[in-house]
Amino acid sequence: GDGHINTTPKTFVVNSPNVVYTDEEIRSKYTYRTTLCTVEGDSYVAVPKETVYDFKVDRKVPKTGMMLVGWGGNNGTTVTAGILANKHKYSWATKEGTQEANYYGSVIMGSTIKLGIDAKGKDVNVPFHNVLPMVHPNDLVIGGWDISGMPLDQAMDRAKVLQPTMKELVREEMSKMVPLPSIYYPDFIAANQENRADNILPGSKASMEHVEKIRKDIRDFKAANGLDKVIVLWTANTERYAELIEGVNDTADNLLKSIEAGHEEVSPSTVFSVACILEGTPFINGSPQNTFVPGAIQLAERHGAFIGGDDFKSGQTKMKSALTDFLINAGIKLTSIASYNHLGNNDGYNLSSQKQFRSKEISKSNVVDDMVAANTVLYKEGEHPDHTVVIKYMPAVGDDKRALDEYYAEIFCGGHQTISLFNVCEDSLLASPLIIDLVVITEMMTRIQWKASESGASETEDFKKFHSVLSVLSYMLKAPLTPPGTPVVNALAKQRAALTNIFRACVGLEPESDMTLEHKLF
Ligand code: NAD
Repeated sequence: GDGHINTTPKTFVVNSPNVVYTDEEIRSKYTYRTTLCTVEGDSYVAVPKETVYDFKVDRKVPKTGMMLVGWGGNNGTTVTAGILANKHKYSWATKEGTQEANYYGSVIMGSTIKLGIDAKGKDVNVPFHNVLPMVHPNDLVIGGWDISGMPLDQAMDRAKVLQPTMKELVREEMSKMVPLPSIYYPDFIAANQENRADNILPGSKASMEHVEKIRKDIRDFKAANGLDKVIVLWTANTERYAELIEGVNDTADNLLKSIEAGHEEVSPSTVFSVACILEGTPFINGSPQNTFVPGAIQLAERHGAFIGGDDFKSGQTKMKSALTDFLINAGIKLTSIASYNHLGNNDGYNLSSQKQFRSKEISKSNVVDDMVAANTVLYKEGEHPDHTVVIKYMPAVGDDKRALDEYYAEIFCGGHQTISLFNVCEDSLLASPLIIDLVVITEMMTRIQWKASESGASETEDFKKFHSVLSVLSYMLKAPLTPPGTPVVNALAKQRAALTNIFRACVGLEPESDMTLEHKLF
């Protein structure tokens, strides 16, 4: 015909001498370009630098399990019901009309990337999910633990998040899902959670028995469902911070000894992380506490196990990491951010206790640091906008969290700009797609390997994995964990660019460039 395409393709192959597809693998050769800056006199000298990498992607999509710690909570039940609804293509009646299951709010399932341009110079976009051979969330086998033994159908009623008509569709399937007993060390979460703790393993402090039991749970789940791989994610209550003590949790060996000795500063989430690391199962922390004490990070590095965290970046902080990036990069001097929240779900109830609130306050407070530090025109060294975070428990609003923010900034020649935001939405409907993204991306990262193909000193013989600490997950996380000694990036656009461009490199594509020279030259 005339080459007119009626249906827009959703998938692609790369045709390039740098990219080879085999049945098992995608191999790419990719030139990574950076700029090395040195000080000479009172100026920088900037030198373009190139490193050539080989990437190797395992094309076989494994049968994957997702095990949630805190499965019976608001997020756990909501993400489970949402995946089932998508898998069965359910739709249900609402007062606005028929609602179909979807994956809105998931960057992987709900967004596209620009692949390139067509012959006429028009943008060509493809679903993010199709950039690499990723697991489809509909195919995830779901399981997990909770200190509350309530089956998931009742637990989703307790959560008060989903429409009754939607719940009826998934109810029977959810009634057969019952969380495994978990570990409960009462000192780490609010005392007000005690009433729901009816599904717990014996022992109220860390032990190797707990580590071994969790490892066995993972193995049993894998075997029972014929899985190739399991990803574990903590979406249980926010714990208080664990004190960092020399000799206790500072090194991998000390941490293991402390678990053996039942030291009271080892949290349940750290015990879960250690079990996963020893089992070679990726572990992601969706809550703000310092699960990954230095000893846990060292243990993960030692075992080459993947970890990621901390704290889902769902509402207020996601806005903040976009808005602050915009203001400061627009040359507007942000001078204060006042953030208030109130919520009425069990997360809010737990956070009404001071020690647990403190964990959240810490994870919410450093989120603009990198953007401020980068702008040496607006801010003197050490200068920082005022920033405060308040969270209050208001039972009546349930899961419909309110976030009120005031951004106050200095504009041209002494003027001021005040931006006031009022953000209302179901917290768990924001967090659920992030859980999916974290799991799908983490699984994908376990199948990507690299080696430096440059000749010279940095050449490595064998393909290697990415670093144990998956900072590529930063887009979904409020206080991104990065490999020790490496910088944290909070700016939302940069985080998304890192994710898309690393995935693009794996199929030999250049970073997304917004130059569009083809439309700009005369
Ligand atoms: P929730 O209270 O409804 O669910 C938490 C569940 O964890 C409960 O069912 C509880 O019984 C269980 N639990 C507590 N300790 C446990 C343990 N040791 N082992 C197993 N289960 C345990 O809370 P939620 O709204 O689902 O949020 C979960 C976590 O995610 C919280 O820490 C919250 O701060 C964090 N988070 C949520 C969002 C969001 O937008 N929803 C954003 C960022 C972070």
